[in-house]
Amino acid sequence: MEHPENSSEYAGLQVNAGVAQPSIVSPYLRQMRKKRQKLFTPAEYVEGILKGNVSMLSQAVTLIESVLPEHQTIAQEVIEKCLPYSGNSVRIGISGVPGAGKSTSIDAFGVHLLEKRGGKLAVLAIDPSSEKTKGSILGDKTRMEKLAVHPKSFIRPSPTAGSLGGVARKTRETIILCEAAGYDNIFVETVGVGQSETACHSMVDYFLLIQLAGTGDELQGIKRGIMEIADGIVINKADGNNVDKAQLAATHFRNALHLFPLPDSGIVPEVMCYSGFYELNIDNVLDMVFRYIDQVKENGYFQFRRNEQSKYWMYESINEHLKNSFYFNPAIKGMIGDMEKEVLGGQITSFVAAKKLLDTYYDTFK
Ligand code: GDP
Repeated sequence: MEHPENSSEYAGLQVNAGVAQPSIVSPYLRQMRKKRQKLFTPAEYVEGILKGNVSMLSQAVTLIESVLPEHQTIAQEVIEKCLPYSGNSVRIGISGVPGAGKSTSIDAFGVHLLEKRGGKLAVLAIDPSSEKTKGSILGDKTRMEKLAVHPKSFIRPSPTAGSLGGVARKTRETIILCEAAGYDNIFVETVGVGQSETACHSMVDYFLLIQLAGTGDELQGIKRGIMEIADGIVINKADGNNVDKAQLAATHFRNALHLFPLPDSGIVPEVMCYSGFYELNIDNVLDMVFRYIDQVKENGYFQFRRNEQSKYWMYESINEHLKNSFYFNPAIKGMIGDMEKEVLGGQITSFVAAKKLLDTYYDTFK
C-alpha cells in the first residue's frame, strides 16, 4: 500500500488493513421475528399455560393484546378453555399517584409475599396513558428489580391498545390465564387518577390505596371519592424524619374513614404506615390485606363481589361491542364527520344528528 506511514523508515504507527464493518442489522433478527410470529393452536396454548409454561403464557397474553382478528379468535378460545381453571387467586389492586412508590412497594410486597406465603405472583397493570406515551410506565420490570428476577413471579406491563375499557378488559382476561397457569396471587397496578382506579376496582378482591404524608392528598382522596373504593389505605415513605408526618396522616385518614358509611364488605378499611424502600412494616401490610380476604371469604362478600364483577364485565363487553360495531360501521364512518360539521355549523341539532346516524346504522341491518 502506497502510504508514507508504511515506509520502513517511518517511526510512527502503521496503517493496518482494518476489519470489515459488521452489518448494522443483526443477522439473528429475521430468525427471532419468525420465531415470535409462530402461532400455536388454542389447545397447545392451553396445555402450556396449565403446565405453568411462562413462555406460552406470555405469548397467549400477546394474542389477547393484539388487534388482529385472527389473534383475537385464538385468544378468546384460549380464555374460554382456561376459564374452568381460573378464579383461585387473590387479586389485589394497588393504586397511587405517580411517585407514591407503587413500583418500589410492589417489589417489596411481592418478595415478602412469596417468601412468607409461597406460591406464585403475577403483576399486571392498567395504564390507559400508556397508549399516548407508547411506552408502558406501569408494570415495568426495570422498576421492580427484585421481583423481575424472582423465579416465581410474572410481570406484564399494561396493554397499550385501545380505550380504558379495552385496556382493562385485556388485563382482566390476562388474570384468567395467569390463574390457569397457577399464579395464586395477582397484583394489578394502576395510576391513581380517576377512571382507571374504578376499572381496577372492578376486577380485584382487595383495593389498596398508597398515599403519601403531607402532600394534601388526604383531602384530595376524600374529594375524589376514592376512599369509598379503597379496602385499605397505606402511607408510604414512613422512614427517617418522615415517620411522624406519616403517622399523623394515618390518623387523619382513620378519622375521615369513620365519616363514611360502612362499606358493603362490612369492614372498615384499615390504615397503616410503611416504607417500601426500606422495607419497614411490609409484613404487617400484607397481613392486613389477607386478614380482610379471610374475613370476606367467611362473611360471603368475597363471592358476592366476584359475582358483581362478572355481571359488570358482561355489560361492559356488550357496551364495548356495540360501540365498536357502530363506530366501525362503514356507513357511519362515511357520514359521521359531516354530521359533526353540521352540528358545529348550527345546521342541525345534536339530537337530530344522533338520530340520523342511528337510523342509518339500523338500516344497514335491514
Ligand atoms: P411510582 O411512580 O408510584 O411507581 O413510584 P416509585 O416506586 O417509582 O417511587 C418514586 C420515588 O419514591 C422513587 O425515587 C423511590 O425511590 C421513592 N420511594 C419509594 N418508596 C419509598 C420509601 O418507602 N421511602 C422513601 N424515602 N422513598 C421511597
